[in-house]
Amino acid sequence: MKAIRFHEFGGPEVLRYEDVPDPQLRKDQVLVRVRACALNHLDLFVRKGLPGVKLPHINGSDVAGEVAEVGEYITAVKPGQRVLLAPMVFCNQCVHCTAGQQNLCRQFSVLGNRIDGGNCEYIAMPEVNVIPIPESLSFEQAAAVPLVFLTAWHMLVARCGIRPGMTVLVLAGGSGVGSAAIQIAKMFDCTVIATAGDERKLERSRQLGADHVIDHYQQKIGDEVKRVTGKQMCDIAFEHVGAATFEESIRSLKPGGCLVTCGATSGPEGKFDIRVLFAKQLSFLGSYMGTMGDLHQVLQQIFAGRLQPVIDAEFPLKEAAAAHRHLENKEQFGKVVLTVP
Ligand SMILES: [Zn+2]
Repeated sequence: MKAIRFHEFGGPEVLRYEDVPDPQLRKDQVLVRVRACALNHLDLFVRKGLPGVKLPHINGSDVAGEVAEVGEYITAVKPGQRVLLAPMVFCNQCVHCTAGQQNLCRQFSVLGNRIDGGNCEYIAMPEVNVIPIPESLSFEQAAAVPLVFLTAWHMLVARCGIRPGMTVLVLAGGSGVGSAAIQIAKMFDCTVIATAGDERKLERSRQLGADHVIDHYQQKIGDEVKRVTGKQMCDIAFEHVGAATFEESIRSLKPGGCLVTCGATSGPEGKFDIRVLFAKQLSFLGSYMGTMGDLHQVLQQIFAGRLQPVIDAEFPLKEAAAAHRHLENKEQFGKVVLTVP
C-alpha cells in the first residue's frame, strides 16, 4: 500500500510518499481502508523527533474510513461500514483500563505516536477502537473529530466539571482543540471568552459562539477578561498554548477557579506565584486526551449535530508535506485533513 513515511526526523521534507508492506490482520482486529486522516500538532512533534518513536514511521492519529475486512473474532462491525477510529492505544486489561480510565494506563499512547498511524491506505486496529459513523458525516468531517473533541471534552467535563453559567476562557480559539472547546462550553450554556491572533480567527471564534474575543498579540488577556467580566474573572482557563499565555491565564481566574491544560505549543515553562495559587484557592489540572467513555459521550453530541467538526483545509495524502507546512505556519482555523483517494 501507499503511505506517507519518514526515515529520519526533520522538517516537512523528510515525509516520503512510498510503498510500504500491507498491515497483517489479526483475528481480533479490523482492517480499515483509510479515507481521511486529520493532522495534529503531535504529527509535527513526532516528525521533528520524540523519544520512543521508531524509524521508519507513519504518522496520523485521526482516522476515518471504511471497514475493508474483519478478523475471525470480530462481531460488532462488517465490511463496508463507515467508521472512525478512537485515536488511543491501551492495554484494556489493567486496573485503570478496566475502570474506564484508559488514559491512565501505563501503555496508553496516541495512535501514530509510538505505533504507526493512519497516513496510509490501510490500518489494522482492535475492535474497541472502531466506531461506526452516521451518513450525515463525511469522512473528512469524521476525521476532524476524535482527538480534539475527546481532549476538549475530557478537560472541560471530566477534569473541570463544567456547569451552566460558568465563564470559560479558551486560549487560541482558532486551533483544533480551541474550536472544540468553544462549542462544548457553549453547549453547556457558559459564557465564552476566546483569544486568537488575527482578525479572521477572532471573527471565526465569534461565529462558533464565543461571546467575547481577545487579540492575544495586541491585548493583555488578563486585563481584557477583567474588563468584559466586570472584574468577575473566569471559572475555567482552557490552556494548551503554554509559556506565551500561562501567566495571563492564571491572572484571568476568579477565586476558586481552575486552569486546565493539555499542551504547551509555545514552550514548556510557565511561571506562577505560589501565593496566588493558595490565596485564590486555584486548581491547576493536567489532562491528557481522554477515556473511551469520554469519546463515546462527545461523539453522541457530534452525531446529533450539536457539535460541529471545523475543517480548515484538505490536502491529498501525497501532499502531506504541504499540509504540515500549513499547520506549522499557524494559518489554519480548525483542522487540516489529508484525504486518501
Ligand atoms: Zn491498561
